[in-house]
Amino acid sequence: MSDHGNLTNPAPDAARLDRRRGASSIFDASRPGRRGVLLPPLDVPGADPEALFGALHRTEVEGEVEASEVDAVRHFTRLSQKNLSIDANLYPLGSCTMKHNPRINEEIARLAGFADVHPYTPGHLSQGALELMARLEAALIALTGFARVTLQPSAGANGELAGCLMIRAAHVKAGAPRKYVLVPDSAHGTNPASAHFAGYQVKELASTPRGTLDPAELEKMMTDEVAAVMITVPNTLGVFEENILEVTRIVHAKGGYVYLDGANFNAFVGKIRPADMGVDVMHMNLHKTFSTPHGGGGPGAGPVGVGAALVPFLPVPTIEPEGTGFRLDFDRPDSIGRMRTFYGNFGVLVRALTYILSYGQEIGEVAENAVLNANYLRKKLAPFYHLKYDAPSYHEVVFDDTLQAAKGVHNIDVAKRLMDYGFHPPTMSFPLIVHGALMIEPTESEPIEELDAFADAMIAIAREAEESPELVTSAPHVTPVGRVDEALLAREASKPGNFAPVLRAPVRRS
Ligand SMILES: *Cc1c(COP(=O)(O)O)cnc(C)c1O
Repeated sequence: MSDHGNLTNPAPDAARLDRRRGASSIFDASRPGRRGVLLPPLDVPGADPEALFGALHRTEVEGEVEASEVDAVRHFTRLSQKNLSIDANLYPLGSCTMKHNPRINEEIARLAGFADVHPYTPGHLSQGALELMARLEAALIALTGFARVTLQPSAGANGELAGCLMIRAAHVKAGAPRKYVLVPDSAHGTNPASAHFAGYQVKELASTPRGTLDPAELEKMMTDEVAAVMITVPNTLGVFEENILEVTRIVHAKGGYVYLDGANFNAFVGKIRPADMGVDVMHMNLHKTFSTPHGGGGPGAGPVGVGAALVPFLPVPTIEPEGTGFRLDFDRPDSIGRMRTFYGNFGVLVRALTYILSYGQEIGEVAENAVLNANYLRKKLAPFYHLKYDAPSYHEVVFDDTLQAAKGVHNIDVAKRLMDYGFHPPTMSFPLIVHGALMIEPTESEPIEELDAFADAMIAIAREAEESPELVTSAPHVTPVGRVDEALLAREASKPGNFAPVLRAPVRRS
């Protein structure tokens, strides 16, 4: 036994604890007169800012933060350490594919020729960038089997909209846009939103008790008023649509298009090509399957692959070979136009091609390990958490809180308690057909030790829910911010102009 003397009671007082946590906002850290850089007085005649900038020149900025470099560096470093992040721990956010982002991607994306190329640089001076995009398109064509791929959409949802607009344009060209888009009840919320945005009415397809599409139900609803069916493979329960060939046959027989939400291509990349299954159009989330840091909402890229029938409607510009190089083609009369400014989120495209090339022919390993990891967690946790749809998983597995709810512990409590164990919460309240969902996607980048540590935490929480439920329902206890009043937060956030209600919502600091 060692004697630590006074150190046996290391609990700091509140003031010291606050210091450890740092100021809650950089505005609190502001001190009049502090500067990041102090320059000596000018010893040459200076330019007159009034003359240069006129009315734009301001001598005072109300509320401007005054801080030194060390204040700023420490403030933001402390903030970063309050986060649960993929660089620190397994991040099981289902349907988000929070995988490790290989650092080689970052190095390549920062090469000056890629990072500094200006979007207005003419084609003959940006051949390297155009070649990179052409190579990425070719790689995605090889992986999906489609005729062409547009790299322009800046997220999955933007890709869905591009796909729906192309489908609409094709139907219009053939006579009429048609009226409906069918979307399964398990779909990601962006699917019905995108179809609606493209001018369609959405009809819901009910899932089978196994959580998959019901061909008989589809047969009934598929009329010549239906423009397209949007399916997700694997679906949002992490289950593979086993009747996919039947689905594409039924839709095509009525002249409709099959849209595949391939945000989670992770589960079968390098194994099957969606075009071979009869799919007409599909978006991929480069920021999920092909790795780009995307916590906090971006940036992303949602390329869309299309079969030959939809090629004329692709967004402009496309990238075409010309001589020994490439050119941007804006001369496409049937194009739906642009989906965004310039050519998409180019930095994400660089990362994706780097990722694909680092795997090369072995890219199917991504899917194998993603599926193995999800099934490993399903088996380990199934005795402790209820599975509404107990089928072998693909890349993710959806538990729910049925067993814990008997003790008054709900999915949100489990999620909050997980933060005490150092893990980001899983996806909750989605898919909508699973009440109290806990949707877990470990991805392929987790080693078995990390999967075991996560499973141990989940099992410990299941025990706590049995033995001391209030410990779980009052979590988190060791995070910088305690349980937030979410009802108040939602109310405040919906008020116009209220950008940061989280700063004002009452929180209990642990
Ligand atoms: C993430 C996701 C989307 C939306 O992608 P964003 O890039 O967030 O717009 C759509 N569908 C599914 C199944 C997803 O997982």
